[in-house]
Amino acid sequence: MDLYEYQAKDLFAAHGVPVLPGAVASTTEEARATAERLGGPVVVKAQVKTGGRGKAGGVKLAQSPEEAAEKANAILGLDIKGHVTRRVLVTEASDIAEEYYFSFLLDRANRTFLAMASAEGGMEIEQLAVERPEALARVPVDAIAGVDKATALKILRQAAFPEKIVDAAADVVVRLWETFVAEDATLVEVNPLVRDPQDRIVALDGKVTLDENAAFRQAGHAELVDKEAEDPLEAKAKAKDLNYVKLDGQVGIIGNGAGLVMSTLDVVAYAGERHGGVRPANFLDIGGGASAEVMAAGLDVILNDPSVKSVFVNVFGGITACDAVATGIVEALRILGDEASKPLVVRLDGNNVEEGRRILADAAHPLVTLVDTMDDAADRAAELAAAGV
Ligand code: GDP
Ligand code: MN
Repeated sequence: MDLYEYQAKDLFAAHGVPVLPGAVASTTEEARATAERLGGPVVVKAQVKTGGRGKAGGVKLAQSPEEAAEKANAILGLDIKGHVTRRVLVTEASDIAEEYYFSFLLDRANRTFLAMASAEGGMEIEQLAVERPEALARVPVDAIAGVDKATALKILRQAAFPEKIVDAAADVVVRLWETFVAEDATLVEVNPLVRDPQDRIVALDGKVTLDENAAFRQAGHAELVDKEAEDPLEAKAKAKDLNYVKLDGQVGIIGNGAGLVMSTLDVVAYAGERHGGVRPANFLDIGGGASAEVMAAGLDVILNDPSVKSVFVNVFGGITACDAVATGIVEALRILGDEASKPLVVRLDGNNVEEGRRILADAAHPLVTLVDTMDDAADRAAELAAAGV
């Protein structure tokens, strides 16, 4: 889960990373009140989960509460790369002497953690990595050893941070590592980390990604979820413990096993090219069990997606044999009753397939078409979706 800047900065503050005081506002009046309370110049910043807000006009300096209200008025509602701004952060403005870059992240490819640092901040990191790779230090971090002051100093010297602030910056880096570990983050990024004219080091921006696998031991993280911005179908699927991702096509997909579902998406996208360009509407892996309840929960989510015009159920019977899956489908359709209103193409294979197909054939549900192979089933599902569009 990605956090908003203001949430990231709250976590920073809780772990002793220096940030400037501020508060989030969803109206111009709230923005004015916060600027009044802070006194002096403020920065008004769009709270959207995407980078490059500065360039898009989402970060503006204001000298007075009146100006803060004006800037908030301009930024609230602003569309930044498809993200509509619903809140702004009003925060004390900093004088900037220098801008740096610092991050800790999970480096999946190398199966380790990684520190990235540069004395040349401000620029977008992807651009820096391409244009001036030598200016970006990349230092693997041992998960057990972690980052103490000595390690922090080593990373910052490798990134050519100015010697006169390297000690102060190393203290901040140690706190960032504490944040990364204590919050079970997979990314903690500060761009820019700044030096002010008094040589204080401050995190002026913050980006944090939390590892949702750690939710069970991070009770506080639940309240960081932005319920308003959550896709309602994804929220419903999450509440039912389903492994569901909304996509933008028209063919609903249910399968068992992540690998099978991934290849089902490919086969449907390919078949869709022959049928008006229809595409998969979602990823949904109902796992090994594939019980009637899970099948009903999955169908319930998918059938309530207004863009879904047909559903492809692609199951390979293993430990849970095809007859159990077929019974699950029949039972799920019975549970859903009139809510099941879109054509279903079912492909079953694997353990006890004959019995599974017989159960579906006997049930003779008017919405269900049984197809033997994955390719033919994908083609049929795409054809039905194209007819329903
Ligand atoms: P981003 O564009 O989404 O990464 O948003 P940032 O929070 O990084 O802000 C973009 C830029 O605005 C920064 O690189 C700074 O140059 C500038 N900026 C942000 N906050 C302040 C501030 O308090 N004072 C000054 N002078 N500039 C700021
Ligand atoms: Mn930034």
